[in-house]
Amino acid sequence: MLSIFCAPARYVQGRDATQSLGAEMVKLGLEGPVFIVAGKSARRLLDATWQKTFADAGLGYSVHDFGGECSRTEIERAKIAAQAAQAQVIVGAGGGKVLDTSRAVASELNKEAVNCPTVASSDAPCSALSVVYSNDGGFDSYFFYKRNPDLVLVDTAVIARAPARLLVAGMGDALATWFEAKTVIEAKKKNQLGGATTISAGALAKLCYETLIADGAMALEAVKSQVVTPALERLVEANTLLSGLGFESGGLAIAHSVHNGLTTNRYTHEYLHGEKVAFGLMTQLIAEGQSQSLIHEVASFCFAVGLPFTLAQLGIKKLTDEGLMQIAQRACAPGETAHNEPFEVTPQLIADAIIAADRLGQSFLANKRSER
Ligand SMILES: [Zn+2]
Repeated sequence: MLSIFCAPARYVQGRDATQSLGAEMVKLGLEGPVFIVAGKSARRLLDATWQKTFADAGLGYSVHDFGGECSRTEIERAKIAAQAAQAQVIVGAGGGKVLDTSRAVASELNKEAVNCPTVASSDAPCSALSVVYSNDGGFDSYFFYKRNPDLVLVDTAVIARAPARLLVAGMGDALATWFEAKTVIEAKKKNQLGGATTISAGALAKLCYETLIADGAMALEAVKSQVVTPALERLVEANTLLSGLGFESGGLAIAHSVHNGLTTNRYTHEYLHGEKVAFGLMTQLIAEGQSQSLIHEVASFCFAVGLPFTLAQLGIKKLTDEGLMQIAQRACAPGETAHNEPFEVTPQLIADAIIAADRLGQSFLANKRSER
């Protein structure tokens, strides 16, 4: 099996990075017309900056308002608009679902893709895949692309103004990166590219976890005050670049499969990808039989930054046996990354680990409350 590593062609991050968007695109040889799929707040915050940066770079552009869900319907709608605009480059500006949609449009039209995340809520921006949902918000499928984005541009002044909950969700997604990659590396399974892992992917995934532990809480304080600090810059890089490269070239395991399972429960739909992944990670660590000290370290981090680690915190107040098995069976569906574990993964094993993770989370919360 060949080792495979992939990454965006260029990654740009910093305060007011949007001012350089046009210039960075020209440096990469990208040509207009530019078609921007934009979330609401991205458009509100960046419209004036786009006007200037694209005028300065001599690129024509148009803006398409995102409909709210990365579904096949939404992708088709944006694709038709991009064709009408004769777009040569597709830019996504907004949250994860906006970028997933713009990536799908770029791929289907065989055009260059630029991702401008306005939140650091997931590791999607650097990847060559989209998570596509059904119109009612359930998980539909992954779309895999031939190439990673040509450019990922992260404006930390914009990220600092986003709701703190989104940054925290990104930490939940990033928190799982190292543990999932480590499992895939040790089990000698395939990464998301269908190849063997590299030592580079392992090192980046590990650095991702170390950065979260070192900077997570301080970065959260920065976002609560809407300011850009070095800790926020490092954390945004961990959530976006390290986690993105780490999961794709390092691989996924139980944590993301449990996320997919949880989406079968409608009460979890208002919770974010990274929030469900954090619970999926606790489930993974328990299923793998990891040490109490490691599980405690991860749970402490979740508590410190406000990530959910009980089912109730994900909207599931009461879970029937059927509801539990529905989640567990979805997590074990053929092709799920749960099967990257070095042991046989069954619905019963996942169901037991979910219950154990929930119980552990409840006791942890009760202990923390009594400490106060
Ligand atoms: Zn993820």
